Formats: sequence, C-alpha cells, structure tokens
Amino acid sequence: MPTPILQVRDVHRSYGRGQTRFEALKGVSFDVAEGESIAIIGKSGSGKSTLMHLLALLDAPDAGSIALEGVDTAGLRGTRLNRTRNKTFGFVFQQFFLTGANSVLENVILPLKIAGVGGKERRRRGLAALEQLDLADKAKNKAVNLSGGQKQRVVIARALVNDPRIIFADEPTGNLDTATGAVVEDILFTLNREHGITLIVVTHDEDLAARCDRRIVIRDGRIVEITGSAVAA
Ligand code: ADP
Ligand code: MG
Repeated sequence: MPTPILQVRDVHRSYGRGQTRFEALKGVSFDVAEGESIAIIGKSGSGKSTLMHLLALLDAPDAGSIALEGVDTAGLRGTRLNRTRNKTFGFVFQQFFLTGANSVLENVILPLKIAGVGGKERRRRGLAALEQLDLADKAKNKAVNLSGGQKQRVVIARALVNDPRIIFADEPTGNLDTATGAVVEDILFTLNREHGITLIVVTHDEDLAARCDRRIVIRDGRIVEITGSAVAA
C-alpha cells in the first residue's frame, strides 16, 4: 500500500474557553489515498469546515495528529508551513475570495507570486490555467465584473496554477445556480480523474457527494459513517 497522502488520527478541535468552550471535533480519524475524491457531509454546525481547515493546515488540532505524505505536520510553522500549503494545496471556497479590483490574471497568479515564481513564468502559467478553464479571453477583465460561474472558474484556475496535489473545496457550488454548479462540478472531477489531483469537498449537495469515491459523514464533531471505497492508487 502506498503511503496515504493524509493520515488523520484522533483529531480534536475546540473553540472558546471555560464555560463557553465548545468541542467542534471530538476525535476524528481516517486516511486519504492519493488521487481519490472524498466528500465530507453532515448538517450545518457538525464540524465540516473545522475539519477541512485542519486538513488544509489552515488551523492546527488541539490534540491528535495529521500527517501529510507520511510526515507529521505538527512541526510545520511559519515560512515552511506557508510554502507547504502553497505548493501542495489548491483552495476552492464558496465565497470566491477574489480581489475584485484586480484583473482575472492577477488573481490567478497570486499563489505563484507567493511562491516566488518570476513575472514571465507567472504570466505563462496563469494564462495556461485560464485556458484550461476556458477563460483566456477574460484575463484582463476586472474580477468584479464576472458572473458567479466565471468567478468560480477563476478560483479553480488559481487553485490549479501551482499544480497542487490536493484541491480542497468547501461548498464549491453553494453560491451557483444548478447549471453553473454542474459545470464547476464537472471541472473538479475532470481534474481529479485526468490529473490525479486528490479532491476533498465539503458539500450539502447529495449528487455531488454521490460522485465522490467516498463519503465521510460528520455528526456533532464525530465521524458516524464512511461509505464507498478508496481507489487503488
Ligand atoms: P460546518 O462547516 O459543518 O457547518 P463548522 O466546522 O463551521 O461546521 O462549525 C462547527 C461548530 O463549531 C459550530 O457549532 C460552530 O458554531 C462552531 N464554531 C466554528 N467556528 C467557530 C469559532 N471561530 N468560534 C467559536 N465557535 C466556532
Ligand atoms: Mg461549513
């Protein structure tokens, strides 16, 4: 068996202190195989976003461990942590997080800027990513002027530009109409299948969850069910 890309062991995460302390994750364990697609599902407030933030190393657990490619991530801090995140992960969140006043291309190449890639190479890779998402003609447009579906495709282009191993998507179709959501969904699964990018998606959408190799059901901070089977890497 190859090393899982993520190994999550007995992870806990609380918010607040004393009387107001709330345990959002109460001991969660599972592995993610490289190249698989996983849906994290459950009611609002069950701990899905908390879990995704931990997996994406945007937040750290209070107890338990998360290993990335077999290496414990607890020791990662500062520049090394940022570099690991920037190099290994792509993010597709419901709220886009685009800078409206900047051009589409500028938004897409931001991760390359952070990685210290030179201007010419940034432009080349940014345009290639936009090409893949069928948005090359919008490169110079201000992000604010795009439709919701176009914005989400820009977000996917930005997630791709660093050639990530894992794409994290939190309700990626949540702000889109059904038809546009389906297009965005198809793009994510194409990236998963054809480029072998591991896909971890938080969703309320049952059809989207059904398309994933596995579904992890969270209730009140615990995993209550895992369905499906991991793909052989
Ligand atoms: P989900 O994404 O499944 O809706 P979350 O992971 O966002 O759930 O939240 C899980 C629980 O933790 C909720 O009860 C939420 O209110 C609480 N929570 C989330 N973030 C914070 C925070 N920063 N401070 C306090 N409580 C929080
Ligand atoms: Mg959430």
